[in-house]
Amino acid sequence: MMDADITTRRIGYVNLPAQFEEERTEIMRAVEGVFRRGDFIGGEAVGKLEQELTAYLGIPHVVTLNSGTDALVLAMKALDIGPGDEVITPPNSFVASTASIVAVGATPVFADVLPDQNIDPAAVEAAVTPRTKAIMPVHLTGRMADMNPLMAIARKHKLAVIEDSAQAVGSTYDGRMSGTIGTLGCFSGHPLKNLNAAGDAGFVVTADAALADRIKRLRNHGLINRSDVTEWGTVSRLDTLQAEVLRIRLRHLPSVIERRRRNAAQYRDELADTPLFMPPCRNIEFNTFHTFVVQTDRRDELQKFLAAKGVETTIHYPVPIHLQPAAAHLGHGKGSFPVAERQAGQILTFPINQFLSTADISYICAMVREFFA
Ligand SMILES: *Cc1c(COP(=O)(O)O)cnc(C)c1O
Repeated sequence: MMDADITTRRIGYVNLPAQFEEERTEIMRAVEGVFRRGDFIGGEAVGKLEQELTAYLGIPHVVTLNSGTDALVLAMKALDIGPGDEVITPPNSFVASTASIVAVGATPVFADVLPDQNIDPAAVEAAVTPRTKAIMPVHLTGRMADMNPLMAIARKHKLAVIEDSAQAVGSTYDGRMSGTIGTLGCFSGHPLKNLNAAGDAGFVVTADAALADRIKRLRNHGLINRSDVTEWGTVSRLDTLQAEVLRIRLRHLPSVIERRRRNAAQYRDELADTPLFMPPCRNIEFNTFHTFVVQTDRRDELQKFLAAKGVETTIHYPVPIHLQPAAAHLGHGKGSFPVAERQAGQILTFPINQFLSTADISYICAMVREFFA
């Protein structure tokens, strides 16, 4: 995958097999334990993972679930958000943020984003109506939205804040962990996220014990014990196997983040003289680089050029959510959210996974400089 010969070099966007090789002994031992015990659902590892995440994030309650999307859906259900309610969110996220709002029967209201791709607090304030129940900022790329002004708007209008932290586990803003600033924080353990399971996984965090208890009921049919159901729920428990995998990977997470940050620093350094717009780093933030997204008017050309040089890049995300066919009923035409729309044609995600070598990044940067030369 990462050949030393520059003419045949191939640099992949992700490298999950390398991650497995690094953790093979631990993973296989844990998987064998689950099969020996047969505690596939509700095993001890689930509660242990919740305790370990509680300690890592410094938040009183963590409820594991079977996806990040379910974390968003159940967070809103726990807040009684449903038909007739509006939730403000950016149009440039992964589709799950908006889809979860639609899934609970509420109406997504978009607020445009800033040059740095995160939601614009001024646009959020302008979008508040008497029906607004919550703001759902997305910490896109692992860099947190501007939470201080967003929390001030939420306090002023008495709104809940649901942080979509799916891309930002371990990121901080003004000394606080992603997901722990708002009313609830929602995380994904999807295999392509920085803290990744071997399948679907997610969790929701909160300082509010009542919300956590309600989500625990909702994830297990609404049961309050073995036989009594007080409200209709669903099934969204985290499998014990996935909990075991996430426990192992939570221990490795600081090293994963460190290696990604090192890669980002090298990109910044070696691409400083190019016309690429790179994500800014404010003093008050610690970015975990789920993705490294640059912006350029020549995006399509650059992507093709890099592909020919063996460098795989991706686009997060090529179609803004309000322009998706599924969003037609919301009635937003082209030009409704000009910043997000412009960025959709300019953004390009470079490989940044923790298995890239200094030589790999140097090679990519050399190719980018060659493109602009
Ligand atoms: C991945 C992701 C989700 C959904 O997480 P799943 O675990 O795949 O359901 C939600 N929001 C954002 C921003 C994401 O990147």
